[in-house]
Amino acid sequence: MTDHKLSDPALLCTKAYINGKWTDAADGSTFNVDNPANGELIAEVAYCGEAETKAAIEAAEAARPAWAAKTPKERAKHLRDLFNLMMANQDDLGRILTLEQGKPLVEAKGEIAYGANYVEWFAEEAKRVYGEVMTQPSPDKRVVVIRQPVGVAALITPWNFPNAMLTRKIAPALAAGCTVVCKPASETPLSALAIAELCDRAGIPPGVVNIVCGNTRAIGGELTSNPSVKKLSFTGSTEVGKMLTEQCSGTLKRLSMELGGNAPFIIFDDADLDLAIKGVMASKFRNAGQTCVCTNRILVHEDVKDAFVEKLLAATNALKVGNGLDDGVDLGPLVSVKARKTVEEFVADAVEKGAKVHEGPSTPNGECYSRPLVLTEATREMRVFSEEIFGPVAPVFTFKTDEEAIAMANDTEFGLASYFYSKDVARCWRVAEALEYGMVGINEGIISNEMAPFGGVKESGQGREGSHHGLDDYLEIKSLTFGGI
Ligand code: NAP
Repeated sequence: MTDHKLSDPALLCTKAYINGKWTDAADGSTFNVDNPANGELIAEVAYCGEAETKAAIEAAEAARPAWAAKTPKERAKHLRDLFNLMMANQDDLGRILTLEQGKPLVEAKGEIAYGANYVEWFAEEAKRVYGEVMTQPSPDKRVVVIRQPVGVAALITPWNFPNAMLTRKIAPALAAGCTVVCKPASETPLSALAIAELCDRAGIPPGVVNIVCGNTRAIGGELTSNPSVKKLSFTGSTEVGKMLTEQCSGTLKRLSMELGGNAPFIIFDDADLDLAIKGVMASKFRNAGQTCVCTNRILVHEDVKDAFVEKLLAATNALKVGNGLDDGVDLGPLVSVKARKTVEEFVADAVEKGAKVHEGPSTPNGECYSRPLVLTEATREMRVFSEEIFGPVAPVFTFKTDEEAIAMANDTEFGLASYFYSKDVARCWRVAEALEYGMVGINEGIISNEMAPFGGVKESGQGREGSHHGLDDYLEIKSLTFGGI
């Protein structure tokens, strides 16, 4: 078993968190959480199923009225305390994240701060849930709108940002007055369970936040069919998002879906190439290419292709791949052997169809490491054009006109993040408006923060996280019509 080297070992929690209590699976079973850098066992976590999930939903339903009845300021205070605790424990939370997920420690600690920012933001927004006075329909009537919490929310999150994807949901849900049952990804449950421990320390009442891990289908089946659950917020693949949407139709739950992407990164002929390289390196190789907003397709104007590729190869070759806990590492291992094999299939497909491979820095021994590389001569027929790569592979396509670049960028069922680089203001407006994406980075490769609405269009999902819009997903609108006036 790994020596976790935590300042506060109590943050390494391995049981389910139900109704404010750390709970074993009913039959005592557990599953292993391994370190992708070396395959070592990090922890054995309670393997829960339908019964434990039911208990968690019952706890959330029982806690709901009192939590919703608190004043926004009281709920804000708990969230503020949670934010402070996250930042006070940033080192340990970052270490747990690197151990189970693989990303470099600097990035992991950055994710803790990023995740905590959502908690701070929604602590502030909790106090700004306003109603409206509508236009009066007749002289004797008045219509007022109030906004109320949706109710119990189920939150299902992926492994690529095991802290931030969860806080981005828990924080607005709690701010709005909802209670929650969370199911983190099986590869990375420890970051989520550490958040439960901090919720406990922040004095958040029992039942308001519950976390169960284990049998994916059994937990998902209960969360999507139980009538007490009024909303599902899911972050993960489009395939699973569609399936869960179908499962929720029986009880017609409110849905937020943060799904897959296929981000284009367009470099026009007037772009500042050095700025574009900075942006593409951050957007392509962060988290070893395993983010939903990762650059998937680099589209470069043919006149600047050679100069751009030369700079891209130099920057890629300068990356250091290694164990995320070691100093100076830019890329850790991928999350699993399966993830590494999938990336290799993408590369093999591209090579078979004529792409040229430029291999980047070598990797240490270890089954989950994937070598960063650039693919030139990429074409639309390759899988890297149409599917989410989720690894450190940068395919370069070329175009001749703005229209061609926009058509290529939009030629996908996804619509999450997109990026482009140009110095021409008129072109910036035209292209930004023409891109069919929920988010556009203009001369910028990092687009996600708590102040900006995050989310996709087309098959990348529905709903928005972050910003004041993030609260809307957890609030119902109710109209009150007063008569006899
Ligand atoms: P995934 O396979 O869809 O899994 C996501 C979550 O769904 C995990 O907790 C998983 O649990 C759970 N799940 C899978 N099948 C389920 C079922 N039948 N019932 C209930 N839950 C189920 O996605 P992933 O590989 O973890 O994450 C990568 C994907 O997430 C990529 O497509 C990426 O683009 C997307 N993503 C999107 C955003 C966004 O904001 N748009 C952000 C981050 C990631 P198990 O782990 O137990 O299987």
